[in-house]
Amino acid sequence: AVWVSEIMLQQTQVATVIDYYNRWMQKWPTLQALAQASLEEVNELWAGLGYYSRGKRLQEAAKKVVSELAGQMPRTAEDLQKLLPGVGRYTAGAIASISYGQATGVVDGNVIRVLCRLRCIGADSSSPAVIDRLWDMANALVDRSRPGDFNQALMELGATVCVPKAPLCGECPVKQHCRARHRKLFGKPTPVPDVEDCGVGGCPLCPPPTEPWDSSLGVTNFPRKAAKKQPRVERTATCVLQRRGCHGALEYLIVQRPSSGLLAGLWEFPSFQLAQDLQEEKQREVLADHLRLWTGWPVVAGGLQFIGEVTHIFSHIHQTYVVYSLHLDGDVTLDPALSPSRWVTEEEFHASAVSTAMKKVL
Ligand code: SF4
Repeated sequence: AVWVSEIMLQQTQVATVIDYYNRWMQKWPTLQALAQASLEEVNELWAGLGYYSRGKRLQEAAKKVVSELAGQMPRTAEDLQKLLPGVGRYTAGAIASISYGQATGVVDGNVIRVLCRLRCIGADSSSPAVIDRLWDMANALVDRSRPGDFNQALMELGATVCVPKAPLCGECPVKQHCRARHRKLFGKPTPVPDVEDCGVGGCPLCPPPTEPWDSSLGVTNFPRKAAKKQPRVERTATCVLQRRGCHGALEYLIVQRPSSGLLAGLWEFPSFQLAQDLQEEKQREVLADHLRLWTGWPVVAGGLQFIGEVTHIFSHIHQTYVVYSLHLDGDVTLDPALSPSRWVTEEEFHASAVSTAMKKVL
């Protein structure tokens, strides 16, 4: 349960996760049950939660525990990280400390903020030198007798008190130890205990000389982050192909994405990435060519109806779907040599493993 919740909570808010978590635990209450699930079932349950490889790797890891580790979960952070797909340093530390009582620290975004403020660490908080130091600090600080509670408390402190924009320093239980607060109140840094440790000039932890302490920011001088990489811009043509099914209900054609890469194994309307700055006329032709191949139907570019555009932000891609629709009469035989595909009603569409972006398209 701790493992499942930690994986779901990577990149996703608690409020969103709760419902998914409850459904997941009800469906697969044990590792053995999860090991027997299919990727299709996992994707269906995960649909809408984003970062789909998380669910896939959780299931792969469950299979591994059952088939290769005799059903026994590894119990230390080192083994968890080494043996289980999808379990990184943070997740390993969280599971080991919360579930197995190992005295090992955790460093997540909240902990980074708290520790950088406590120690006035002003170098880029994603740099290896800072990350290593934060892990050392977290491992040194963790309470030996209640490591899981301590780690959760430290993260909760970051989530509720030492928040990014307006931290509640007056109510903070560790304010006496906080160097950022000391500096804000007294205008100068606390004396460094041992100057020789400071690596004067090129200290990998201090604020760079080009970005000194800004008194208007107070404790929010820390942590410092490197400028975020801009997401890649992509345009994709997608076509909602529809037909009247045998009971008169509208049906839509969906095809399955490859089993690796972005949105692996999920279903979508036939979609094709467009070259940048392609004229609309050309877009239609490219799309019509692909649809002809897919359906064996004489699809002509002029028959595609332009519906509109849908934007969706993935972690590293700013995606625009250029949406077309096309109604087909009669039976369409799909080439089985191409990606798996099927016709679904609207209800079936929503119950399938489709991404949030495709729901927006529909
Ligand atoms: Fe964060 Fe303020 Fe507490 Fe320091 S005193 S840890 S800045 S909330």
